[in-house]
Amino acid sequence: MFECYLCLNKKRAGYGGYYCDACNKIGKIIECYGSDEVLDILEQTCLRKDKKLRDIKIEKVKKDKEEDKKVDIDKAHGLAPTPPPPPTTRSQKKKTSN
Ligand SMILES: [Zn+2]
Repeated sequence: MFECYLCLNKKRAGYGGYYCDACNKIGKIIECYGSDEVLDILEQTCLRKDKKLRDIKIEKVKKDKEEDKKVDIDKAHGLAPTPPPPPTTRSQKKKTSN
């Protein structure tokens, strides 16, 4: 059997086809979304070319870690914000009104 024209790895599906089953599915997705959109998605998810987006994610993770550390330090010094009082339920309101 001949190799798929796209992935050059798997065997082509059927005698008249050019692509393997997986690449046929990829072709259907490209038909649906367009090659530019699919390429953009693949570059963002597989290659992560967009350094800006990666930097934003790294900054967010760093910030979250710093906030976690700050909360731990505040707890150690007794500076942690007091949790809000629990909400009063209807049954509690009845008791206080009587
Ligand atoms: Zn293929």
